Amino acid sequence: MSAQRPGIGMTGFAILPPAPAVELDAEEVAVLRKAAGILGGRRLAVLTGAGLSTDSGIPDYRGPGAAPRNPMTYQEFIASPASRRRYWARNHLGWSHLRHADPNAGHAAVALLEQRGLMTGLITQNVDRLHEDAGSINVVDLHGRYDRVICLDKGHRFTRQLVASILEEINPGFLEAAQASGVVEMAPDADASVEDPELIRSFVVAVCPVCGGTLKPDFVYFGESVPKDRVQRAYSMVDEAGALLVAGSSLTVMSGLRFVRHAAKGGKPVVIINRGHTRGDEFADLKVEAGVSGALAWLAAELPDLGPSAKPISVPVD
Ligand SMILES: [Zn+2]
Repeated sequence: MSAQRPGIGMTGFAILPPAPAVELDAEEVAVLRKAAGILGGRRLAVLTGAGLSTDSGIPDYRGPGAAPRNPMTYQEFIASPASRRRYWARNHLGWSHLRHADPNAGHAAVALLEQRGLMTGLITQNVDRLHEDAGSINVVDLHGRYDRVICLDKGHRFTRQLVASILEEINPGFLEAAQASGVVEMAPDADASVEDPELIRSFVVAVCPVCGGTLKPDFVYFGESVPKDRVQRAYSMVDEAGALLVAGSSLTVMSGLRFVRHAAKGGKPVVIINRGHTRGDEFADLKVEAGVSGALAWLAAELPDLGPSAKPISVPVD
């Protein structure tokens, strides 16, 4: 899916440096110099959220200007076939939007921080896979990934692409009819709002091609826990790090906020780059109110190299 993107090689590595940084004003640069003073000389665990992907055209749930929205909970999804029909109809429309999004300068900057050996790992709350597309390797997709589907009955896994072709086959004309009726809102979890209730009622949900079980996109819903092994991997990244850098998250949900608390409790400096208040502000040594892409690009370029005593990055096999 990323092979045609400029700057992305066959391996998925970014082969170009980050795009020229978004203009930062003097005040922002002054705060970033303070951030570099705190973060410099330490290996970083980096935690990112939806604010990092808005520059890639993926709307935020909660950032300034975001439309109020109540995502379907896990309990609602499980409870009724009608909920699942509504969910899958909207996801069928929305997922291709994520598939066509490209990583931006912020994603490239995080990949560069890793390539420079300045990171222990990346924890992202985004399901859009844009970090991996930009070349990040050691990534915990905390809330899962949009491009995979799991079978709730037997744990079978499929690509979203395969499920898309099944859905297209059993719902001929659906995409065209939905697009004609107008899509008014997109969300970072591939949810799209469909205006026509008749169209949703006519939607046929795909079942697991192996066992006939219930299919669900492989991401963590509201009301659902992050799998334990994934949480542990993320904690390890924070434990191995000398500091935590948060970028583009309001830390509204505990799944991300707990790593900020953990770092602060361990006496590790926390720097947060985000426009607007976050729930982690009280734990932060420094809050940077600046555009996330530009700020990350500045840090990736300006943070000093680590000495030869720095430990090499361990890359887990996922
Ligand atoms: Zn199955």
